[in-house]
Amino acid sequence: MVASNFALQARPIKVLIAGGSYAGLGTALNLLDLCSGRFPRFEYNVEGEPDPRKIGVEITIVDERDGYYHLISSPLVLASSDFAKKAWRRFDEIPALKNIKTIQGSVQRIESKLQKATIIEANSKLPTEVPYDFFVGASGLRRAWPVVPQSLTKADYIGETLSHIKSVEAAANGVVVVGGGAVGIEMAAEIKLVMPTQRVTLIHSRENLLSSEPLPNDFKERSRLALEETGVELILGERVLETLNLTNEDGSQYSELILSSGAHITCGCVIHAMSKSVPSTAYMPQASLDDQQYVQVTPS
Ligand SMILES: Cc1cc2nc3c(=O)[nH]c(=O)nc-3n(C[C@H](O)[C@H](O)[C@H](O)COP(=O)(O)OP(=O)(O)OC[C@H]3O[C@@H](n4cnc5c(N)ncnc54)[C@H](O)[C@@H]3O)c2cc1C
Repeated sequence: MVASNFALQARPIKVLIAGGSYAGLGTALNLLDLCSGRFPRFEYNVEGEPDPRKIGVEITIVDERDGYYHLISSPLVLASSDFAKKAWRRFDEIPALKNIKTIQGSVQRIESKLQKATIIEANSKLPTEVPYDFFVGASGLRRAWPVVPQSLTKADYIGETLSHIKSVEAAANGVVVVGGGAVGIEMAAEIKLVMPTQRVTLIHSRENLLSSEPLPNDFKERSRLALEETGVELILGERVLETLNLTNEDGSQYSELILSSGAHITCGCVIHAMSKSVPSTAYMPQASLDDQQYVQVTPS
């Protein structure tokens, strides 16, 4: 329907995408393929010929970051400086985006009836209005440090991650990761993998790792065994009541953790791998959101 409606189109259809991570880039590139008479590149079970009709389309991606950050690799990024350098690619360094406009900025508001978005551009810090025919919200969740790096440019990101890795490497008496969910497990395991001589302890408040995940108990048990095989030490069923940041006589810093059993643990670096992520939907009309700020979607 879109193809025939726009067959005689006077101008390209403007598609504005908020977010240039997995969902945003996936949308942009598949749409570009479909509008160019090709199979969408993410569809590998293709049969027959693609629909050859072409649709003029002008795709713009707005992201607060200056590039694509491979977010799910954060635990390895925060352990390996070699890997960290590869996990962020500025949008202007990605050949596949050459026919897509990218803007570094933050979508502040969309007015769906007027079909326009207000963006604060990162460089000018000024609001700009961007008209669109179709808007795609792919702005995901906001996640706290150290679950993911907080930098918005590649240059800052390199500084942020390398300084964290240095403090993990230099931590006398080892590193403690607090929180045995998926992120904490992966962080502890990646540090041990990259720095095998560093002492790594994971503390989790429940008796089972991954306790809040809807996974079978034998999966959780396998995760515990696999983690212990890497050499990570586990303390389960203990809460961290307090973290004291202290200074040695020689001026070096260390932390003391007080656990619910009364035990004290001393280490050179504490990583809190727990945080509640919040939807990044502040720009959406309030009526479209539920009480947790997620977009209310219809089954279709
Ligand atoms: C440490 C970690 C490990 C994970 N591992 C896995 C895994 O192994 N497998 C898996 O399937 N999932 C994993 N996940 C979950 C996965 O990261 C998410 O499902 C995925 O990132 C969602 O992608 P997205 O494109 O929807 O949003 P996001 O990745 O959250 O990206 C949103 C983008 O929008 C931008 N943005 C936000 N607000 C605005 C705004 N107002 N204006 C402009 N831009 C904005 C952000 O800068 C960001 O680039 C992991 C998550 C974490 C934290």
